[in-house]
Order: sequence, then C-alpha cells, then structure tokens
Amino acid sequence: MLTTNPFEAPENGDKLHEECGVFGISGAADAARLVALGLHALQHRGQEAAGITSFDGAEFHTHRAMGHVAGNFDREDIMVPLRGTVACGHVRYSTTGETALRNVQPLYADLASGGFAIAHNGNISNAMRLRRDLVRRGSIFQSTSDTETIIHLVATSNYRTVVDKFIDALKRVEGAYSLIVMTPEGMIACRDPLGIRPLVMGRIEQSDGSQAVIFASETVALDVVGATFVRSIDPGELVMVKGSEITSHRPFAPVSARPCIFEFVYFSRPDSISEDRSVYTVRKAIGAQLAIESPVDADLVIPVPDSGTPAALGYAQESGIPFELGIIRSHYVGRTFIQPGDKVRHLGVKLKHNANRALIAGKKIVLIDDSIVRGTTSLKIVEMMREAGAAEVHMRIASPPTRHSCFYGVDTPERAKLLAATKNLEEMAAYIKADSLAFVSIDGLYKALGEPQRNAIRPSHCDACFTGDYPTTLTDQDDVSSVDQFALLAERVS
Ligand code: AMP
Repeated sequence: MLTTNPFEAPENGDKLHEECGVFGISGAADAARLVALGLHALQHRGQEAAGITSFDGAEFHTHRAMGHVAGNFDREDIMVPLRGTVACGHVRYSTTGETALRNVQPLYADLASGGFAIAHNGNISNAMRLRRDLVRRGSIFQSTSDTETIIHLVATSNYRTVVDKFIDALKRVEGAYSLIVMTPEGMIACRDPLGIRPLVMGRIEQSDGSQAVIFASETVALDVVGATFVRSIDPGELVMVKGSEITSHRPFAPVSARPCIFEFVYFSRPDSISEDRSVYTVRKAIGAQLAIESPVDADLVIPVPDSGTPAALGYAQESGIPFELGIIRSHYVGRTFIQPGDKVRHLGVKLKHNANRALIAGKKIVLIDDSIVRGTTSLKIVEMMREAGAAEVHMRIASPPTRHSCFYGVDTPERAKLLAATKNLEEMAAYIKADSLAFVSIDGLYKALGEPQRNAIRPSHCDACFTGDYPTTLTDQDDVSSVDQFALLAERVS
C-alpha cells in the first residue's frame, strides 16, 4: 500500500529499511546470467524478492520478482530478454506487510541524462525528511523505498554530468549505502563515507582475453562465478567503469570508517572474506573468547544451527568440551525471522530445529548461538533441550546483548521488542528458561577481530546495535521521537 500522505512516515509494512545484497558486472557476455549466479550466492542477505537490470548498449531491460533467485532467474523466458554486457541485481528482504513489486530493486528511472538503474544495500537514515522536501518540490514517488530518494535527488540536481549529479545527491543523504548504479555511460559502485555495509570488487577473464569488472556485497559471490577478488571498495570511494576504463573518485570529506560489526557476527556468509578477515575464522575466535570469558562445566557444546556453528566450534576447541550436533536443522524452512507474526514465528522455530534426543538425554549442555534478538529462538531451543532430557542447559551468545535497533540495513525490530533492551541478564536467563546465560563482552568481540579492546573514542566498527553509539545523526528518528515511533509501530503491528 502506498503511503497515502507523503508527508507522513510510511505505513506499517512500508519499512524504509531492509536487508539486501547487490551484485553488478560490466564487460561480460551474458552479464545477467552471471548476476543471477552472484545473487544466488547472496541469497542469505535477502529472500523476499530479487531483480536484475541489464543494458545492451541501447536499452535497459529489467525483471523484478517476488521470491528467491532460483525459481525466477533460472527461467529462460526471464533470462533471454536480459540482454547486454552490463548488468546489476539485488536481493531484498523486509520483515512485514508490503511486499509490492514496485519496491523491488534495481529501481529504474528515465532521467534527462538517460536511463538510471540503482541497486542499494543499506538504509538512508534521513530518507523520510528528504522525501518530504522532494514531494513538496513536486517529485512524484513510485515506491516507498528509501533508495528512490537518491533517484529524485539525482533528477533534480543542478550539476551537469550524471556522475556529478549522483555525487551531489549522495552528499545530501545520511546513513548506510553500498550502491551499484548503471547509466548509458557505464557502471558506478559506491560506498558511504563510513563504509557501513560491505562492497567488494573482482574481475573475471572473458574468452577474448578482456576483463569484466564485478562489484558484490560479499566475496562469496565472486567465488561462485569464478571471479578473482581484487579489493574492497573503500569507505567513501566511488568507482566508475566505462568500457575498459576504471576510475576511482573520493568525493566526500574523509572520516574514520565504521563498517558494521554484525556482518561478522551473523549477516555475512562464513565463507566470505571481509576486511581481509575470514568471517568463519572471526566467528570461531568469538566462540573461543566466549569460552574464556564464560566457561561452563558441561558435557557437550551444541551449536544452534547454522548461525551458531562456527562460534560453537571455537568454544569447544578453547574449552576442550566435545562439540556435538545436538540440534538438527531442516533446510527446507526459511529463516525464523521471515515468518511474519509472533504465532507463526514460534511455529517456524519448531519446524526448523529438532533435538537429537539420543545425544542430549542426561547431559549437561552448553548451547551456542550468534545472537538473541527477541528471545524467541533461544526460548524454544532451551525448551526443546529440556524436553529431550538435558540435565542442565546453559546458553552462551557469540555477541553482546542486542539492545538497540539498527537503522543501517540490518533488520532488527523496534527497541521495545529486543529482549536485552528491556531485561537484565538474570531476567533474560529466566525468560529463556536457561540454567545460565552469558554474552561475549564488547571488548571480547573486538579481541576476536584482533584489537586489544573496543576503542571507546574511535571505535573501528559500527556496533550501535550493542552500544547505542550510532555513527550518523538519525534525522528520521529525531523527527518522530523514538518513543513515539515505537508506540506507533507497536500499534500498527498489533
Ligand atoms: P530471536 O529468536 O528473535 O531472538 O532471533 C535470534 C535468532 O535470529 C538467532 O538465531 C540469530 O541467528 C537470528 N538473527 C539475528 N539477527 C537476525 C537478522 N537481522 N535477520 C535474521 N535473523 C537474525
């Protein structure tokens, strides 16, 4: 449903922020097919919808669809019209309500300068304010996505070239953006000055010996298409690809980067390399740190699959307690988070995990998961372990308590629904019915990343979900005080 009054915050379900993955390629025969493969590898970043836009030198072609990449972009009738040697794509996920096709990316517009397609990972934290101003000045929005704000800012910019218009637009947006843009002139990849969301560059050799350039949210997408990792796009960097010419621009005033630490905790695939570190190795190191900080006298270390598995291996290796698969996960159910509505979400957890009874009965166990958000998963898993006859159930979490909502592109519910925002450690342990509960410390998390502790003055990462230390102003949140906003949202959800 379109926001009826463009001067107001979007209705429930028209969430401005969403989890996403992006992939773009320039200079490859059958570019769209490679994008489809790349998006497949990024499917964990968004399962609700996917889209691909290609450019054949004269025209842009777009297909956007609800659902997974497979089932849409493996169909010949969909792939054949996506002609051209330049293409970009997007996978998207938002929790509730509006799943309309018009919010699915890449978004496309015919500007005075020609076609303009954009795929965005992140969230613009002043989108509501910008949108209100743009609508007042006559812009007509087609979607409720924050990304469309960038298109209107480009369209109304007084600068001459499309690149300058784009830079002018970006200078007015706040928040997180890793972007891939296509214009008739070429492809542009850009990361916000803080580098909150990831974006990497790769290359792949073509049969004629030329090199195609790739941009992707994670290195795993380069692996899948057989590309070579070149480097990360730097925070605040804009890379332009025009045929075989690649230029790098740094149009923003330099600031200390703050990439998202939650990418290491949960969001990225463990086989990706992020900031020159293996995500898998970091997760194991967090688990080892957790074992040092919060040991348990137990018989077995059991991961909550799949998100807790690398940390559980680290915990087991550090503590010397045997690692066992005490919970078996069905791979045919979506992520717990995806089920809309609390009742269905509970059901989802049961469908997804089952106790390996023969292993659990009579044992003192340590369960390891990456994070607690609402507490739904932990409560169900602890209950499941008790039903299976566990003697003691201890919960260890490979991140600090999630106390604050993310406004930069990771889907967390409003603060009031975060277990750790309203309860202390004892209350949380009682809620999830565990014999004990512990989270890795914030300094321990930074230790796992190779730092001695969190640098309180200049933290190396965005860790706002754990600390409340947001690296940008939150214009939209200030517009409606957060308390009012949460009350408003709660009302709409119920
Ligand atoms: P909850 O049941 O609400 O406490 O959610 C915790 C579970 O959701 C953990 O097993 C996490 O692996 C997973 N999780 C954490 N953050 C997210 C997210 N942003 N999107 C989807 N799942 C998540």
